[in-house]
Amino acid sequence: MFSERHRKTVASRVRAGRVKLLAGMTALGLCLTLTALTPGHVSATAVYKEEGPAGESGLVDAVAVTVNGVHAVTVDSAETARALLREIKAGYLTPRTESAAFRESVELLPCLTAPECVMAPADARALLDPENTASPVALTVLTMVTVTREEAVPYDTETVMIPDGYEDETSVTRAGVDGAAANTYSVIYENGREELATLTDSRILAEPVSEIVTRGALPGSRYDSRGVYIWPTTGVLTSKFGGRTISIGSTNHKGIDIGNAAGTPVMAADGGLVIFAGKNGGYGNFVAIRHDNGAVTRYAHMRKLLVEEGQRVAQGQQIGEMGRTGTATGNHLHFEILPDGETRVDPVGLLTGKLQRR
Ligand SMILES: [Zn+2]
Repeated sequence: MFSERHRKTVASRVRAGRVKLLAGMTALGLCLTLTALTPGHVSATAVYKEEGPAGESGLVDAVAVTVNGVHAVTVDSAETARALLREIKAGYLTPRTESAAFRESVELLPCLTAPECVMAPADARALLDPENTASPVALTVLTMVTVTREEAVPYDTETVMIPDGYEDETSVTRAGVDGAAANTYSVIYENGREELATLTDSRILAEPVSEIVTRGALPGSRYDSRGVYIWPTTGVLTSKFGGRTISIGSTNHKGIDIGNAAGTPVMAADGGLVIFAGKNGGYGNFVAIRHDNGAVTRYAHMRKLLVEEGQRVAQGQQIGEMGRTGTATGNHLHFEILPDGETRVDPVGLLTGKLQRR
């Protein structure tokens, strides 16, 4: 598209450092476009025209649009270039848009080019179109909108420790309630799609109400075994462990008897798992508890049972009421300790403290 003479002129000007050669692949093919090196420099046209009238050179004044320094398109004038850039931006404007800009650096450079290298505005626009993903010079339109959204303010949780509670005992004493805030965001859209929202202001509409949770301060569980036994009821020790003579003959007593009024509370001597609760022959209403170390305690003759098999009980928790069910001549608790789970031993040496009368 350039004559030999023009080519030489271009080459000499480029060598002289007076013009820059923009060689770009455009929709119309390879174009040689000349432009002044710096804005304010004598125009490219003028430089070129030193060699002769524009008519003789066959070249025309035009405007090259560069995107990030790369020659993108050539149009006939700066007005055409500005109009098509305006149109591209306008496609992403809404009534709420506060500002719009191209992400890329876009420059308009006056240039001199062959007439067939000047693109129709529609062709130029198609190459710069942000939706044209195949174009290496497609522009990106950034728009900014300020929006205010009502959003929840999550509540905090406050934990209150209960000194005599256990860590597995928690309860919500006051439910938390989310608050509300009017949050103002500066939202950046990239080609119409939300890209980044920056919180610029927040106004509390309703304060959140914190949740209050109580939790025990003691490690473990109330139902853990403590490894020591407390007296399982109150009253009088009426029969010791070992040999004795009773009205129906001699026997080897495998536990102790504590006599008291019917209905006297009977408590678990230590925490553990109830492995039996029900009628058991001569034992009457009977409870057996297995403790964490494998030991078993047994409670007999009760009037009423307050626990069930499979239930965990805490040390000191009432498991029944004293009575005289099974083989018994009066209201009393027959109590046994099996330290290894099988062999009954004298409980008295294993019980802490003194038997209280009531
Ligand atoms: Zn007994």
